[in-house]
Amino acid sequence: MTENRQQALRALPAVDSLLSAPEAAHLIAGHGRAPVLAALRAALEAARTGIRAGGRAPDRAALLAEAAAILDRQGAPTLRPVINATGVILHTNLGRAPLSAPALAAVQEAAAGYSTLEYELEPGRRGTRDVHAIRLLREVTGAGDGLVVNNNAAAVLLILMTLAQGREVIISRGQLIQIGGGFRVPDVMTQSGAILTEVGTTNQTDLADYAAAITDRAALILVAHASNFKQIGFTAQPDLAALAALAHAHGLPLVYDLGGGALLDTAPYGLAHEPIVGEALTAGCDLVCFSGDKLLGGPQAGLIVGRADLAAALRKHPLARAVRMDKLGLAALVATLESYRRGRALAEIPVWRMISAPAAEMRQRAGRWRRQIGTGRVMPAESAVGGGSLPGESLPTCVLALETDHPDALAAALRGGPEPIIARISDNRVLLDPRTVLPGQDRALVAGVRAALNRMP
Ligand SMILES: *Cc1c(COP(=O)(O)O)cnc(C)c1O
Repeated sequence: MTENRQQALRALPAVDSLLSAPEAAHLIAGHGRAPVLAALRAALEAARTGIRAGGRAPDRAALLAEAAAILDRQGAPTLRPVINATGVILHTNLGRAPLSAPALAAVQEAAAGYSTLEYELEPGRRGTRDVHAIRLLREVTGAGDGLVVNNNAAAVLLILMTLAQGREVIISRGQLIQIGGGFRVPDVMTQSGAILTEVGTTNQTDLADYAAAITDRAALILVAHASNFKQIGFTAQPDLAALAALAHAHGLPLVYDLGGGALLDTAPYGLAHEPIVGEALTAGCDLVCFSGDKLLGGPQAGLIVGRADLAAALRKHPLARAVRMDKLGLAALVATLESYRRGRALAEIPVWRMISAPAAEMRQRAGRWRRQIGTGRVMPAESAVGGGSLPGESLPTCVLALETDHPDALAAALRGGPEPIIARISDNRVLLDPRTVLPGQDRALVAGVRAALNRMP
């Protein structure tokens, strides 16, 4: 090492002298002494590395500024709100369903104070947290009973552990599905202690396949909605009502893992018909389970509806306590179900507002963005429901397309602003879909796009 570098290293201030600088006092007031000390040490270490590599020695002010930058980076939250301009309504990575205004208000109220979570006011005694949602679930699905756990994966696990541990669960080979990361029906089956009995083939399963597999070791027949993929061509699954009749003739329950959990029909919006909870119950399913934050448009939850005796058995299982719903989610869920009960779901629940919004409205909004941003092209495109539902189905929309030679760089710049915008790239264009941009976010989107375009070379 040269004499100069040795000198520069020795000339660096001691950490204690930096710590007693007035600027450091300011940092300590904001972050606490120990983190500031650690940041100063890191800044000094970076300076030493730089000097050894032939760089210049930073002065005291630069070292303190570097420590402040380190503290800022450490303090920056990693869970941040973003503007979803992808057009994917139930975007799994962006948190699936945004909550309705009534659901948000209910969360706020439940979070800020005490509530009747497990308390009956009139007799003044202990109650159960399940009752709040179940009363509404009965009304909106027509189910006899139900319970709520913290997500649908937990619902499936609880059902299998309670009703099928050590016994056989009969399922079609076409339904041994994987949902997103880590939820594979065969693996969940193994975890629950149930024994998997596969019937039929990947593309064809008929009633006789199920009938042939029923033995005295069978616990139930499971139907899993192939939510996130589609089979076309030479395919068949038996009719749900016929399958229910077969199960019941052998004294077995029919359980349907519905996934999406639609309470309204998706068909009027040009989408395929997604199975509706009430239909599955009418067809004779004994238990139906589904997510709270997919097509229901509420909080993360696993809803189980169906026969009262089975629901009671699930409630008694020790796992039920481990996977129970928290009070904030429960408050949001009750408010969401209330929107359905009052027939206000299309107007109040963001997911359904987005599904039902016509392309003409998207064209208007994209046109307004274009005028305010001063560039881009309004063009027809397609939005998706997402969240592992309605694969291959799309909603006609209009997007604002930004032409650029560097679409990845522009998309990164959009993500880099104070209110990150998540866009989609197609054909070297950056597309902004109004369908998933919430009504109050237009101004922030326009500002964010203008700032990102300005940062582009
Ligand atoms: C999404 C889905 C699940 C998992 O539900 P989570 O609420 O994400 O835990 C399970 N089964 C099916 C069929 C699904 O579509």
